[in-house]
Amino acid sequence: AQAAERTSQEIVQENRDYTLFSWSVQGAANPMLMKRAEGVYFWDGDDNRWLDFSAQLINMNVGHQHPKVLEAIKKQVDELCFAGPGFATEPRGVLGKKLAEVTGLAKAFFTLGGSEANENAMKIARLFTGRNKIITRYRSYHGATMGSMTASGDPRRWPVEPGIPGVVRAFDPYCYRCPFGQKVETCHRECVSHIEEIIQMEGPNEIAAILVEGITGSNGILVPPDDYYPKLRALCDKYGILLIDDEVMSGFGRTGKYLATQHYGIKPDIVTAAKGLTSGYMPLGTVIVSDPIAQYFETHMLYGGLTYSGHPVSCAAANANLAVYEEEQIFENVDTQGVYLADRLNAIKDKFDCVGDVRSIGLFSVIELVKDKASKEPLAPFNGTSAEMAKLAMYLKSQHLYAFTRFNMLWVCPPLVITQQQLAEGLDIIERGLALVDEALQH
Ligand code: PLP
Repeated sequence: AQAAERTSQEIVQENRDYTLFSWSVQGAANPMLMKRAEGVYFWDGDDNRWLDFSAQLINMNVGHQHPKVLEAIKKQVDELCFAGPGFATEPRGVLGKKLAEVTGLAKAFFTLGGSEANENAMKIARLFTGRNKIITRYRSYHGATMGSMTASGDPRRWPVEPGIPGVVRAFDPYCYRCPFGQKVETCHRECVSHIEEIIQMEGPNEIAAILVEGITGSNGILVPPDDYYPKLRALCDKYGILLIDDEVMSGFGRTGKYLATQHYGIKPDIVTAAKGLTSGYMPLGTVIVSDPIAQYFETHMLYGGLTYSGHPVSCAAANANLAVYEEEQIFENVDTQGVYLADRLNAIKDKFDCVGDVRSIGLFSVIELVKDKASKEPLAPFNGTSAEMAKLAMYLKSQHLYAFTRFNMLWVCPPLVITQQQLAEGLDIIERGLALVDEALQH
């Protein structure tokens, strides 16, 4: 049958029969058909309109089907659809210059996504420092390829272990459940100082880099104390260790700045980005390096390459997407809506017994659910789920609110073009879902 003649059901069935779905037991995969989309909404196979509170995979920052990005892609396709990675093209140079401007770093290497960006960042750090080990954090996700999966602390790394050698992990600035049993008002930032002990134990001259997410995303929006990054930066400087800042999820507007670390006044040595770089319209990732690293590769070989590195259409999509950020004052909207979102989340925390903590920065936020506020017992165990979490997820689905839930958490990360009215529409649904959880917990 021609594509146009297929029913929604047939399309889903063909997907199920002939393609594999990510992070799923295939027999339980239940893909929804997306027929069309616009702004913060998309429509399923039965023409139901869904509010996208997850911006797909927290990447569609300018929302679905933005006309200016579509136009730029079409124009680039007509002009020059592909050039090998050894060629110079206009969109590639324009994008490289823009990335240097907005990050304060020097040069960009292009990949196809975030996993490959982290893979290459680790390689570049090893080449530049001549050292081998990489320190990462437990509550982190850096990608699904062998190296970036090992670099992740997330349980998704378990099946690939032992993975790549040389990855050493540290604890996180998770103040709600401080791994050191401290309170943020009185602690000594053990989340940084214990890393110095790890450095001593592992050998300061063996460690190439500390790789951290700007703000931890898929492990729970862990917003660090204000002096965390300055202290981490100082630690890196003390031992000649590079700071690699994975801004794949937290970067490019999600928190209202190009880089989440720009909130804390520090500069990383290497930044990786993807997702919000093109808002997902074309696949693109990047590794942006500091001037000393760029200088090093002036006289040393960059051992690395990809057929699609610097793809002209991906670069053109990124340039158009970044222009939209400026022309439409997207970051200003993140600031404005971020205040409204934080206020609503704080009220939600006060109102519902099942809400233990809420964390947000810009339009990057999470609600952490508990069985009991005092004991902080999670509503679902780490790396697991529960009847209550499943019920909440089902309710949101029934209301056609598309939001990401995992373990005992619910994320609110909509496209950055969202209005206050649209935010309220989704948050009202979430409140009704949380009321159901509270009710279930009382019985
Ligand atoms: N790094 C972070 C912080 C991410 O959130 C992700 C994806 O969710 C990645 C890396 C991997 O990016 P990709 O899926 O584009 O390979």
